Amino acid sequence: SLKGKTAVITGSNSGIGLGIAWELARAGADVVLNSFTDRDEDHALAEEIAKETGVVARYVKADMSSGAECRALIHEAGACDILINNAGIQHVAPIDEFPMEKWDAIIAINLNSAFHTTAAALPMMRKAGWGRVINIASAHGLTASPFKAAYVAAKHGIVGMTKTVALETAQEPITCNAICPGYVLTPLVEAQIPDTMKKYDMGREEVIKKVMLERQPSKEFATVEQLGGTAVFLCSDAAAQITGTTISVDGGWTAL
Ligand code: NAD
Repeated sequence: SLKGKTAVITGSNSGIGLGIAWELARAGADVVLNSFTDRDEDHALAEEIAKETGVVARYVKADMSSGAECRALIHEAGACDILINNAGIQHVAPIDEFPMEKWDAIIAINLNSAFHTTAAALPMMRKAGWGRVINIASAHGLTASPFKAAYVAAKHGIVGMTKTVALETAQEPITCNAICPGYVLTPLVEAQIPDTMKKYDMGREEVIKKVMLERQPSKEFATVEQLGGTAVFLCSDAAAQITGTTISVDGGWTAL
């Protein structure tokens, strides 16, 4: 059980981050949710997790595009035994047309934020005598696609940083790993299905298998619960010697 541990999950008011927060809370960890907004519905997510699982759950607003706010999130959390670097955005364009501000935002949110949160959290993990850093990379941390230069660069970058942090903590009870999801069924992806069905004049299943999961050999989405379960495993004693590596949850994408 992760009882007594505190997990900070960046970018966790939707999708994979929220799914990981739920699974860590079900495993007994107190959770700190985060995004850049500060709405009633953000705080309600934490209240629902607390009510359903009995852990302490809070929502803390911090913009992961700002290094200072990344560090402030960790200090505001008060404890950080488990750090999940999950916040991420995407923009798709050919590199010679890629907007400079989109490049900067993707590198800041998808890569730099993990540098700042990890730097702030490691001293707390050392003091507590235990720690887990889990970076949510992507199949695009191991392979590339056209038109995703910033995303692929940031995700390869975070896989590299994962290895360095693992080496710097190798002789301590702290591990650092990256989870590399393939295509995951989040509300964002679900919302694209109706339009894609119209565009290709296909049924739901055909769109999922032929268009969306073209590169995912299993022809199934990964689920946020499966990503959460993988994070819980990396926090378990069985995973204490797993460090500096990647775990793909991609239905065979990177085997192809
Ligand atoms: P999502 O859009 O549902 O979640 C992204 C989260 O990041 C949201 O909570 C959002 O509020 C937050 N966020 C965005 N900008 C932020 C900022 N400036 N400060 C703080 N929080 C911010 O998408 P998702 O699919 O759940 O993505 C989560 C992570 O998983 C990302 O790093 C993404 O690259 C990665 N990933 C997703 C997939 C997929 O198929 N969905 C596949 C591989 C990797």
